[in-house]
Amino acid sequence: MRVDAHSARTAPVFDPATGTLRAQLALADAVDGERAVDAARRAAPAWGERSASDRAQVLFKFRELCLVHRDELAALISAEHGKVLADARGELQRGLEVIEFACGIPHLMKGEFSDGVSRGIDMHALRQPLGVVAAITPFNFPAMVPLWMLGPALATGNAVILKPSERDPSCPLRLAELWTEAGGPPGTLNVLNGDKQAVDALLVHPAVEAVSFVGSTPVARYIHEAAAKHGKRVQAMGGAKNHCVVLPDADLTQVTDALMGAAYGSAGERCMAISVAVVVGDTTADALVAALAERVRALRVGAPTVGDPDMGPVVTAAHRDRITGYIAEGVTAGATLVVDGRNHASAAGPGFFLGGTLFDHVTPAMSIYQEEIFGPVLCVVRVQGAEEARALCDTHRYGNGVAIFTRSGGAARDFAHRVRCGMVGINVAIPVPLAFYSFGGWKESAFADHNQHGMDGVRFYTRVKTVTTRWPSGGDGASFTMPVLR
Ligand code: NAD
Repeated sequence: MRVDAHSARTAPVFDPATGTLRAQLALADAVDGERAVDAARRAAPAWGERSASDRAQVLFKFRELCLVHRDELAALISAEHGKVLADARGELQRGLEVIEFACGIPHLMKGEFSDGVSRGIDMHALRQPLGVVAAITPFNFPAMVPLWMLGPALATGNAVILKPSERDPSCPLRLAELWTEAGGPPGTLNVLNGDKQAVDALLVHPAVEAVSFVGSTPVARYIHEAAAKHGKRVQAMGGAKNHCVVLPDADLTQVTDALMGAAYGSAGERCMAISVAVVVGDTTADALVAALAERVRALRVGAPTVGDPDMGPVVTAAHRDRITGYIAEGVTAGATLVVDGRNHASAAGPGFFLGGTLFDHVTPAMSIYQEEIFGPVLCVVRVQGAEEARALCDTHRYGNGVAIFTRSGGAARDFAHRVRCGMVGINVAIPVPLAFYSFGGWKESAFADHNQHGMDGVRFYTRVKTVTTRWPSGGDGASFTMPVLR
């Protein structure tokens, strides 16, 4: 059921491929937030009381409906985000893998039991849902990131308020309709569209028990602090600057292929995109830059649903301007601009297009190295040894994903063991963990004690209760000392 907004504020939603306005999105205020929390608060107790198997049946059906509607969902993603259709389908699939994982909730919520911890006394620990939880998600994965949260949160018996990005809200709304069609009870999944006002309404509401956030680092930091201040459990994933270390013994064809996809896929708007290649030795760097330059110039950039482009537009005109601003800063700072995406033919049209950009001789002091650009821009940093390469990864303020390309098992193992990042790929450029592992970065890429999905997802959305049981067996006298089990 859709409900009109109380607030009169709106935000434009664009089709990035044409630059045209698709819709004006009503933005929620505190009154709308209160309504969403109310609906969730009413739904949570009965949903939480259902058996885990019963809830899993709704999840099975939801997954089935998402598959039936996968083309429609992918088209909605492409139309508002701009990523190519195959990539949109891939994102949906990765999100649905978390729903599949969450379908196993009867197993995942199993508690612990100790028989006879003392004479006639047993002890068990169980997991219970939190109640009402909030999920606040970014523009770049309008299906996958909401599904990361919805799977474990709903399966464990919580009612959710999803506050998706205001830039591409249609796919999350459609997911909520499919949840209802699957038999999800009213109020168990509520989509609250909006911006900071909607988020703030959730952060201060006493009925919201936990807040899961994925987005940029400044907002993640704010969410972490504000939610904790209001006594909520919180996980807040932030931005990234993922490095790919290339050792001289790497297979350069494999590296080039991997970097093309990891740096330019989804127009670089992935939190696991590789935006820095740290290349050891000038001979390797010269060969790699030459191979990349040719491929970057040949990138097929175009509307996501026409033909088979490698890359679509970026999400908004403002975001494109931000990216071109960084490219200008890189040039001013003295980096070598090998391929300039600003000159790509597609950039002249009304859509929010840019070609791929490749910089060489980037140094750690430059803003294009320090900051997350979140666009199709790859920076090559040249170093002289593996230790120097790892030191760059370790000291960068972000620590989401990192990759190393080498034929040496020893070098790869040493790197994976020592590097200060949350997710590591060995000859794999985008090491996104599968649903049954958990996703999370280190340093300023995550402010959280629990990662997303995997067992951490189950832990985040539940609290543990420990029960000590003794059946009547006759009195054995009052004791006034600390109970000690024997
Ligand atoms: P964003 O931080 O601008 O927005 C994320 C969410 O927060 C949106 O729902 C938005 O409405 C809300 N929001 C924005 N400003 C706010 C404010 N001042 N107060 C309260 N809420 C606010 O991020 P984005 O541009 O939508 O997404 C891109 C960012 O997300 C990138 O930095 C990317 O690296 C990051 N990201 C991280 C991961 C991860 O798992 N680490 C995954 C995907 C994206």
